[in-house]
Amino acid sequence: MRTVAQANCPICASPGSLLYSNLTDGLYGAQGSWQMRQCHRPECGALWLDPAPHPDDLAEVYKDYYTHNLVSDEPLGFRASVKDAFAARTLGYEGVQTRGARLASLLYVFSPRRSEWALYKRFYLPWVKDGRLLEIGCGSGAQLAGMARLGWQATGLDFDPRAVEAARQRGLKVEIGDVRQRAYPDASFEAIVMTHVIEHVFDPVGLLTECRRLLTPRGTLVLVTPNTASLGHRRYRDSWRGLEPPRHLVVFSPQALRLACQRAGIEVSEVLYSARDAANLFLSSERLRAAGGVGRIELPEANRNPPWRLRMLEHIERLGCALGKPWGEEQVLIGHPG
Ligand SMILES: [Zn+2]
Repeated sequence: MRTVAQANCPICASPGSLLYSNLTDGLYGAQGSWQMRQCHRPECGALWLDPAPHPDDLAEVYKDYYTHNLVSDEPLGFRASVKDAFAARTLGYEGVQTRGARLASLLYVFSPRRSEWALYKRFYLPWVKDGRLLEIGCGSGAQLAGMARLGWQATGLDFDPRAVEAARQRGLKVEIGDVRQRAYPDASFEAIVMTHVIEHVFDPVGLLTECRRLLTPRGTLVLVTPNTASLGHRRYRDSWRGLEPPRHLVVFSPQALRLACQRAGIEVSEVLYSARDAANLFLSSERLRAAGGVGRIELPEANRNPPWRLRMLEHIERLGCALGKPWGEEQVLIGHPG
């Protein structure tokens, strides 16, 4: 696979020092041995891949990733309406849920984990009447379909033709390719969301700048991305699942994500930390560590029952987040055009 050198930080252009070397893709088996640098500036601290895969060879990097990531429909039924009712209350949706669902959703107060999942599924996005929503990197559109059901005018974008086809079969308006090539008019959307996308792109600040242009003046941007300040990264270091070489080109510290937004003219209104899927991510990290950089691990997404000690660790991470620590495996940034 061809590579391109990336000597300086993709967010602030400062030099960095080598943090990890001999990284391999234990998840989807892309070839190569990779290394990550860390930015020197304390107000940034991003990690990035140097060298990175050549942009023309990305198909090689994503070959097996795509086939594993066709997510099936969120099942409709009582559970989904309870989730909708929770979102309606928390995010201001004009719900059409039954009284039973509304009552059951009150129980979410006893399950911070369910609350995190429910907010994630709704992109943490407050309701906007007749709002136009763009999801960049929508995959097969499972989450976007949920938002369309709640009343958003939903548009999706993705690179993977198979995922786009699957999303279209759900009846969604989804297009293939890069948002910058689509050249949407200014102020086309009330909301733009990207979950687990910004860490995959070569020019995060450029992408965020385009998002700013596409948002209405009071529009909302939601970013969800791995967090280098997480407990998982502190514990597993170069085996941490969130590094995902060579697909994650930049992995953000909380400071780096803020800085990228500031440089793109996005005003940050809120940053949250989430332990939503932490136990499974810990399990992947343990398997990556045990494999020692050789071969591919079994992905725990298929095994929804991580060991109790990892579930305990997830609870500790969630507790830390509730106490204001930046421990979550995911960081969630909510911003608006500045
Ligand atoms: Zn930097």
